[in-house]
Amino acid sequence: MKTKVEVYPATEKAEGGYWVVVCISVGSYYKHMEKSRVHCLDKQTMAEAVWNALNNKVCPECGHVFSTHGWDGIDAHWRANHEDVISYENAWKLISKNKYVEVMLASAE
Ligand SMILES: [Zn+2]
Repeated sequence: MKTKVEVYPATEKAEGGYWVVVCISVGSYYKHMEKSRVHCLDKQTMAEAVWNALNNKVCPECGHVFSTHGWDGIDAHWRANHEDVISYENAWKLISKNKYVEVMLASAE
């Protein structure tokens, strides 16, 4: 899965800061996973969030960034959030082969 991370100022927030948004390449463009964007108050926190998003596994359905332990927790995450899209068993067959975006997202465009 090809991802990038975008950062922009959180101008609508009184306390300011930054939004860190994971973007997933679905072929012709990058899909911005706004639902899972992370609000960071300072540049250090923002840099950490960018690093995490670039180095950890990212949920291909919503852009949620997993912890440093690979795909740990994706079963619970998927069942709680995306079971209505596709069952975890079927999703994992695609995700583990790095085929989820190709089959589920790119083809939907
Ligand atoms: Zn997700």
